[in-house]
Amino acid sequence: MTEATQTADEGTSLAVPAKSSNRGPGGKLDLRALGRVELAAFVAELGEKPFRAKQMFRWMHQRGVRSLDEMTDLSKSFRARLEEVAEISSTEVSAVEVSKDGTRKYALRTGRGQIVEAVFIPDASAEGRNTLCISSQVGCALDCQFCLTAALGLIRNLTAGEIAEQLLRVREDLKEAGEERNINNLVMMGMGEPLQNYDALVRAIDMLSAEDGGAISARRMTVSTSGLVPRIPRLGKDTKVNLAVSLNATTDEVRDQIMPINKRWNIAQLLGACRDFPMPERRRITFEYVLLAGVNDTEDDARRLVRLLHDLPAKVNLIPFNEHPYSPFSRPSDRAIARFQRIVIDRGLSAFVRTPRGDDISAACGQLGVAVEGSKRTALPIVAS
Ligand code: SAH
Repeated sequence: MTEATQTADEGTSLAVPAKSSNRGPGGKLDLRALGRVELAAFVAELGEKPFRAKQMFRWMHQRGVRSLDEMTDLSKSFRARLEEVAEISSTEVSAVEVSKDGTRKYALRTGRGQIVEAVFIPDASAEGRNTLCISSQVGCALDCQFCLTAALGLIRNLTAGEIAEQLLRVREDLKEAGEERNINNLVMMGMGEPLQNYDALVRAIDMLSAEDGGAISARRMTVSTSGLVPRIPRLGKDTKVNLAVSLNATTDEVRDQIMPINKRWNIAQLLGACRDFPMPERRRITFEYVLLAGVNDTEDDARRLVRLLHDLPAKVNLIPFNEHPYSPFSRPSDRAIARFQRIVIDRGLSAFVRTPRGDDISAACGQLGVAVEGSKRTALPIVAS
């Protein structure tokens, strides 16, 4: 199930990374990286009963254990056998920054060494939607011109376990910090392009949503993509998550410039894939639109945006550009943002302006990029506001 789909990248001409490896830091098979099916197959190979795989799944993805020793309902002899051939990698909180608005940005160190970021965004409203934004790759290959993570380039894919473990470790930290709020909403909008790490993503969604795992319903998860077109309908069939698409422009000319993936799959193809995304249980597709002053924020853009989305169950998330030193763009004025939103709303399309959360700690959208030193892009001589 995994080999073929991980290597064949549907013909994308973009640099495709080495597939995520299921070897742990110790060189043995990393049990946390295995999806339920692979774990069951592994246990069967060892001649053990299927329920052993269920027990192990629960220990890792619900209880968050870090070692085989902690799996106390497995016999000592079975644990000893496991030790010979397998290990459990674990990701640890390396640093937490807390914003004035309660947003918490986590630097998480994976067992294999690199750091990824996750952001907890509490909701003060009665709705109580407390969101965790998680990463799918270390760095990113897609080179969107406005995004800080792009400056890292792609370093590697995360394993399914590393994607899912971000929830476990942040939950532990919130508990330790005495933070009452429970995470009940997940967005794959951190570092990386989730659909470029497809198999690990789908397995991680299972780990995160399983009753004996993260226990967050897939309907409360959103996967955001820059537009890996062939994988969009496939995601809709393989999972029940919501879809968000980073559209960010209304003409191919502009989108080609700011998102190189548009040269591979243009806006018409992208919207075609969205039409093929099965929707029954999902209400609307979110179209993210980063507002860049003088680039994509004109009144014509607002009108074109509505026309482009007129036959889709869509809502628009307007994201005022978060400035950072690796990108030449700037954020439009509040007036220009409000005008853009008004035009869209007046034409009957829902549009929300996403207020930057945690921007005082660089946790806002597009600001995730630990250790950008040594990046392939050089910082521009502008200072982030
Ligand atoms: N690769 C995925 C998910 C990560 S990006 C995707 O492209 O959707 C999450 C969102 O942040 C995207 O909508 C992206 O367009 C937006 N974004 C990136 N850099 C930004 C910045 N500097 N300011 C505001 N939004 C940004």
